[in-house]
Amino acid sequence: MDLLVVGSGFFGLTIAERAAAAGRKVTVIDRRHHIGGNAYSEDEPTTGIEVHRYGAHLFHTSNPGVWEYVNRFTSFTSYVHRVYTNHAGVVFPMPINLGTINQFFRAAYTPNEARALVSEQAGEFDAKTAANLEEKGIALIGRPLYEAFIRDYTAKQWQTDPKNLPAEVISRLPVRYTYDNRYFNDTWEGLPTDGYTAWLERMADHPNIEVRLETDFFDTAQPLNKRDTVGQLPIVYTGPVDRYFDYTAGALSWRTLDFEEEVLDVGDFQGTPVMNYADAEIPYTRIHEFKHFHPERADRYPTDKTVIMREFSRFAEREDEPYYPVNTPEDRQGLLAYRELTQGEKDVHFGGRLGTYQYLDMHMAIGAALSMWNNRLA
Ligand code: FAD
Ligand code: UDP
Repeated sequence: MDLLVVGSGFFGLTIAERAAAAGRKVTVIDRRHHIGGNAYSEDEPTTGIEVHRYGAHLFHTSNPGVWEYVNRFTSFTSYVHRVYTNHAGVVFPMPINLGTINQFFRAAYTPNEARALVSEQAGEFDAKTAANLEEKGIALIGRPLYEAFIRDYTAKQWQTDPKNLPAEVISRLPVRYTYDNRYFNDTWEGLPTDGYTAWLERMADHPNIEVRLETDFFDTAQPLNKRDTVGQLPIVYTGPVDRYFDYTAGALSWRTLDFEEEVLDVGDFQGTPVMNYADAEIPYTRIHEFKHFHPERADRYPTDKTVIMREFSRFAEREDEPYYPVNTPEDRQGLLAYRELTQGEKDVHFGGRLGTYQYLDMHMAIGAALSMWNNRLA
């Protein structure tokens, strides 16, 4: 074995695939019973509808290198992501665009009129200097729209005062003064034609790659554990960075999600893949209806049944799956300490969402892994 990869998410699999293609023998371990990390999906057994096990995953990128790379393993459908949000019992398009603004104010503003109105309502803060999520949100869309669509949704999603959340979280959402309601601004987007798991399996399908599932790097009862491998061969570690160092600089805080899945005897539950719930009274943040991600599979999906998943957000305890880094000022302090510690780990390379404590979309995890391979490991 030339390389040990801990974690079979997109970061780990990209490293493994590149190393295998370069003639190296790689072993990938994962503590879960399946490969693919959070991008893993499987068919719901009674309906055959593909369900993204760890929350809906939409692929999008503007990086030509990443787009070329991912197309080696899968083709993509022409799916374009659009989201709606329910506020006070009325459905509005998200992200906030001219359609949302005109529906909210029951008006017919032109782009310039809407801009003028929002800038009047946003006057308290400047988007360039906004120091946190609340200031940035108000600066971008003004207080009334912020309070309707962002404040309570964000409170449910983060249970953290928006004044303590980084402004970047909200910068992911575009605001548009046209009726364009695409969720992403990227050049390419789509869903893997045969599903995520087929894509992930193709990445791992190489005679130089061995995958061992249900194998935990910290379990000394299995041979490929931390104690017996570090210093013996190069390691790419994509698990949580604080866990690697036994939480010596404190536990970094994460949000996790609980998913409540239901198979319903109705052909169409909500008419769209994702419905957000903006208001505080509804305990979940959104409902996914998976059949709508693949309209091209209409002939094979049942017409009288559907699968929905309600998503609830809460703080992650140590035994929960960590999903979103909270990134409070204390977390940033802790991360600096861990970054220093990683420098001392010779030939252990920390990558991915958990290994770098960063919110990474799939294309970012793949892009970062390609860079690590090309610049450091190759
Ligand atoms: P992961 O996928 O988390 O993989 C890490 C792997 O390491 C896991 O399989 C884990 O089991 C394993 N591991 C951890 N500790 C150990 C250990 N001790 N021993 C062995 N194995 C271990 N991205 C998008 O582009 N579009 C989206 O729409 C999107 N939606 C998302 C929704 C949710 C709810 C979440 C959480 C993420 C979403 N993402 C989305 C991000 C996407 O999931 C990540 O970019 C991708 O998973 C990053 O891959 P990774 O390899 O860094 O991490
Ligand atoms: N957000 C919001 N209302 C919405 C959708 C998003 O306030 O209807 C805010 C919220 O703070 C969220 C952030 O925008 O955490 C990023 O949203 P995105 O949909 O990108 O989150 P993800 O899909 O990663 O959960």
